[in-house]
Amino acid sequence: MKDWIASWDEIVAGRVTDVYFSRTLKVLEAEGLRPRVRAEFTAGRLPEGWAWAVVAGTHEALELLGRLPVTVRGVPEGTIVGPGEVVLEVEGVYPEFAVYETAVLGLLCQSTGIATQAARCRLAAGDRTLVSFGARRMHPALAPVIERSAYIGGCDGVSTLAAADRLGIPATGTMPHALVLVVGDCAEATLAFRRAVGPDVPLVSLIDTFNDEKFEALRVAGALGRDLAAVRLDTPGSRRGDFERIIREVRWELDLRGHRDVGIFVSGGLSEADLTRLRPWVQGFGVGTAISAARTVDFSMDIVEVDGRPVAKRGKCSGSKDLYGCAGCGTRQVVPRGRPPGEPCPCGGAWERLTRDLLRGGGWRFGPETVQAVRERVAAGLRGLAPGGP
Ligand SMILES: [Zn+2]
Repeated sequence: MKDWIASWDEIVAGRVTDVYFSRTLKVLEAEGLRPRVRAEFTAGRLPEGWAWAVVAGTHEALELLGRLPVTVRGVPEGTIVGPGEVVLEVEGVYPEFAVYETAVLGLLCQSTGIATQAARCRLAAGDRTLVSFGARRMHPALAPVIERSAYIGGCDGVSTLAAADRLGIPATGTMPHALVLVVGDCAEATLAFRRAVGPDVPLVSLIDTFNDEKFEALRVAGALGRDLAAVRLDTPGSRRGDFERIIREVRWELDLRGHRDVGIFVSGGLSEADLTRLRPWVQGFGVGTAISAARTVDFSMDIVEVDGRPVAKRGKCSGSKDLYGCAGCGTRQVVPRGRPPGEPCPCGGAWERLTRDLLRGGGWRFGPETVQAVRERVAAGLRGLAPGGP
C-alpha cells in the first residue's frame, strides 16, 4: 500500500471495519444464521453537554449503504436531534451490512460533531461573517468533508480550494503572514495584493505582523482608502493581553478617523465563547480548530429487531421508531413506528414526522439533496435556539 489513506473502494470492500465484525460474519456463516434485523443509529449522550446536534454525514452513509440490499429510514441530513433520537435505521439481512458499522459510524460521528460546532458558532456569531479556517488542523484528505460539514452547519465560507470547488462557492481568505513578511511591509503587501488579485476579492489586510495593530490599521486604511474592506487581527497569544481591548481600540481609532466602513476580521484560536464576546466590534470571524477538530458525536449502532421480533440490549428501547418534531416549538418526541403522538404538543403546534424512507431497493427515496438544501434546513432549525445554551 502506497499510503495511509483508505480509498473509497477499500471502504466499500468493508476493509475499514473493526475485525470483530468480520469475525462475527465468520461465526454466522458457520452457524448458518442469516437473521433479518433492524439496527438504529443514536447518540445516547452528546459531547460538552450539548442539548442538540446537527445530523451530518448522512449523504456519505447513504452512498455506502445504497450499494447494499438494505432499506434505510431516518432523518434528512441537517435535522436537529437530541440525545437518544434515532437518526438512521437500517433494515436488512445482518451479515449483508455488518462490516459497514465502523465506516457508517465514522461518517456520521465526525461530520455531525463538526456541523454541530459550526452551528453553535453560527448562533454565537449572529449576523457576522463566519469562515471555516481549520482545514490545516486535520488530515488534508478530509478537508472537503470537514468544510462541507462546517458549511452546512452555518459557516458562510470555507478556505480550501478543494472544498469550495465541491461546494460551488468561491473560497474565502485574506492574506497570510508569509506575504507580509516576504514583501517586508504591511501596507506594501496590501497594495501588492490589490494590484495582483483584483477587485473581486474583498481586500482584507493582515495588520499584526510587525507593528502595533492600531497604528498599522490606520496606516493601511490611509494608504488604501475605500479599497480596504477590513483589517484582520490574528494577534499571537503571547502579544494578545486583552484581545477584546485591542480590537475595541482599533475600532475606536478607525471610526474617529472616518474609516467606519473598514471592518475588523479576527482569527486565531477562537472559541465559540470568543465569538459572543467579540461580536460587537467585529465584522467577521475565521474559526479554525474549534470547528475542524470539534468533538465527535458518538453515535452507536444497536440492533432493535431480529426476524420481526423487537429486541434490544440492556439500556436500549427495542423496536422500530419514528421521530416527530413540533412545527411550533421544535420539541421532538420518539414513538414506536407507525404510532404518531396522540396528544398535540403542549405549545399547540402540530407534530410532523421527521423520520422518512431514505433508501429502498438500492434507490434513494429521499434525496440526494443539494448542500444548499441541507444548509437551509439547519438554518431553519437554528431559529429559536439561543447562543451559548446547552
Ligand atoms: Zn410545540
